[in-house]
Amino acid sequence: MPFPLRSSKAILHVDGDAFFAACEVSLDPSLRGKPVVTGLERNIAAAMTYEAKRRGVTRGMILSEVRKICPDAVILASDYETYAIFSRRMYSIVRRYTPVVEEYSIDECFADLSGLRRMHRMPFRSIALAVKADLEKELGMTFSVGLGPSKVLAKAGSRLGKPAGFTAIAGRDIEAVLGSLDIGKVWGIGPNTAAYLRAFGMKTALEFAMKDEAWIKENLAKPQHELWHELRGTSVLPVAIPTSEPQQSIGKTRTFTPPSANRTFVFSELSRNVENACFKARRHGLAARYVSFFLKRQDFRRSGSEQRLREATSIPSDIIAAIEPEFARLFSSGTPYRATGVTLSGFEYASRQQLGLFESAAPDIPAEVYERIDILSRKHGRHAVFLGSSLAARIYRGKQTRNIAVKNIPGDPYTGRRIGIPFMGEVF
Ligand SMILES: [Mg+2]
Repeated sequence: MPFPLRSSKAILHVDGDAFFAACEVSLDPSLRGKPVVTGLERNIAAAMTYEAKRRGVTRGMILSEVRKICPDAVILASDYETYAIFSRRMYSIVRRYTPVVEEYSIDECFADLSGLRRMHRMPFRSIALAVKADLEKELGMTFSVGLGPSKVLAKAGSRLGKPAGFTAIAGRDIEAVLGSLDIGKVWGIGPNTAAYLRAFGMKTALEFAMKDEAWIKENLAKPQHELWHELRGTSVLPVAIPTSEPQQSIGKTRTFTPPSANRTFVFSELSRNVENACFKARRHGLAARYVSFFLKRQDFRRSGSEQRLREATSIPSDIIAAIEPEFARLFSSGTPYRATGVTLSGFEYASRQQLGLFESAAPDIPAEVYERIDILSRKHGRHAVFLGSSLAARIYRGKQTRNIAVKNIPGDPYTGRRIGIPFMGEVF
């Protein structure tokens, strides 16, 4: 028996199943059980639920082919901002159990559980299952989880149980697991190395792991030598903690044609972007600490500003009140503008209850109002209820969808009349 039976190392690998599609289903429960495919924007299937996979949909398939083999497929545009938010929530849930978490990819991470049994008063297996249960409950999707004495074995474990499985590989299991693992399926062994090893008669990971170290040193480079150790249950690849948290953000940008020099209209476009960004933030239970916005002129020159908000918020009127003075400073009258954009960042998680307790900077708009608005928006569409400051943009969009070119927004009836409460009612 060449492999150590016991190891003080316990590495976890977590992998979201059909992650992008699962995020969409988690946000919209009416999609559950349906074949959901993302990638509409590129006309190619990027990710798909297992229901779609069972119908034969594969990654990279042209959407016309998808529609042919799976006519009831729900095909959505990718929303990477949303996937990144889910990804950060995944990492943060795993970090409740250990600070040593490596953000390997948008839907995968490694975590080092070594030395944490006493703290959690549980065996590694139970910690791994607790992580998995929290992830699935809070994110509304399934995860494949592997546990082993090294990263390579943990990764092999999560792969074995896909989807929704859990595989713990202890020292006594290594031989059996590696014996049925194709050499080309080992994490870190690319097609060239696999072909090289096959040329020496190695077909399985076990045959590679059983090779003596002198041969490995002589014939292979350091990365493969490390894999050899990892497969044998000796951890040599550390779980790498990120040096800095990447900034998470939600941005909304829109270009309008023809460009407009109308101050009210340009501001209403910005206001509308703020509302859309806030809608998304609230949907994920996030409140932003920072807001930045830009105005783009017809000649493509941009001006913009970033500011810290008094309190973390996802209430549009708070943000609009904060950016209005900056807008007034940056907007140059008589200049045609073609686009505006807003970005929220520096998020804090706000649970539903906490959101109700947040003191809004504009106390006449309690967060509760937005809870109601979000319910209405889910029922009647995102633009059912909106701020008066977004009115001009809404009217303009409404006309545009009817194919009426709007050359001028007549008058400026809304300047100075932003009443700070949601506009409710039909405009068109
Ligand atoms: Mg995955």
